[in-house]
Amino acid sequence: MTYDFTYTTNASRVVFGLGSLKHIEREVEALGACRALVLCTPEQRAQADAVAELLGNRCAGIYAGAVMHVPIETARAATAHALQVGADCAVVIGGGSTVGLGKAIALESSLPIIAIPTTYAGSEMTPIFGITEDGIKRTGRDMRVLPRTVIYDPQLSVGLPTKISFVSGLNAIAHAAEGLYARDSNPVMSLMAEEGIRALAKGMRNLNADSQDIEARSDCLYGAWLCGTVLGHVGMALHHKLCHTLGGSFNLPHAETHAIILPHVLAYNSAAAPDAMSRVARALGSTDAAAAIYTLSRELGVPAGLRDIGMAESDLDKACEIAISNPYWNPRPVEDKPLRALLQRAWEGALPAV
Ligand code: NAD
Repeated sequence: MTYDFTYTTNASRVVFGLGSLKHIEREVEALGACRALVLCTPEQRAQADAVAELLGNRCAGIYAGAVMHVPIETARAATAHALQVGADCAVVIGGGSTVGLGKAIALESSLPIIAIPTTYAGSEMTPIFGITEDGIKRTGRDMRVLPRTVIYDPQLSVGLPTKISFVSGLNAIAHAAEGLYARDSNPVMSLMAEEGIRALAKGMRNLNADSQDIEARSDCLYGAWLCGTVLGHVGMALHHKLCHTLGGSFNLPHAETHAIILPHVLAYNSAAAPDAMSRVARALGSTDAAAAIYTLSRELGVPAGLRDIGMAESDLDKACEIAISNPYWNPRPVEDKPLRALLQRAWEGALPAV
């Protein structure tokens, strides 16, 4: 094997463990902060209250206004609120949408973020932000938005319904799978990606058998950390481009779209990225990466086709056109006919075809 890579690592501190939320005050103090604004969605207010209680007089209040896709109006209102209450850091508790709001505040104000993820989306480990203005989601990279500290406490995801847990876990697996064939991949990220896929698949299977299995939650969160780290360090390809197009232009749900598209993109790329495919397959105890992801999804009861999550068949041509118009780099060239066939199969929920 001849190696050829550049490896740069993003600096963040990770505190992982059952009950690790109890360290929140210590972590705020370690940042030199004394007025933390806690962010959450309205649905996760109770978890934010628990954080506020642990913070005591280091808490500058709770902002329970996080919503999907980080609308610019929400980002502006939250930033203004953070400045008004004199916050010197933001503590975000929730999924990718809440972490996204924290990132939008950091982009404007440079406030440091402590993230406490409760889904498996992985945003907490990346310097990638997304803000929606006039219906269009703009994404970018900026080191100011990378959370400085991440607290992973498996106890906090126990309330996440298994249906959402599974699509969220497959969303994380997609980061790792594409990281394995990224143009700028490196051996460390590949180790993390394979281990992340293995841990998530094991955790999700065990959760499917027993939704209260805390060890399974721990496996899933550990896998999410690894897969999120991969997303934060290497470039993504066709899968992420397609999901971005489908989510942004056809308003499809984020994690479900990832879960449905992934096996089809792996099949599309399989001949062009054989090493990556063997690692995905090995992580899943199989010899065929695309088929193994498809089978895992069926086992977990995840929606099979885009038609099951509200996509109209008549929009497939348009989706193909948008995805091709400004493609990401991909190990196999992205061409109209095979991409349209991929979308048709994904829409129908058919077996992935090589
Ligand atoms: P989400 O954050 O939108 O959460 C979905 C719902 O689940 C919310 O109502 C939330 O309050 C609730 N929820 C979260 N955790 C819960 C728990 N433990 N118990 C009960 N309810 C809970 O969903 P998501 O899939 O985590 O995030 C999706 C968003 O994240 C998308 O907008 C996506 O673009 C973004 N994302 C960004 C990056 C990045 O690097 N920037 C990476 C991955 C995802």
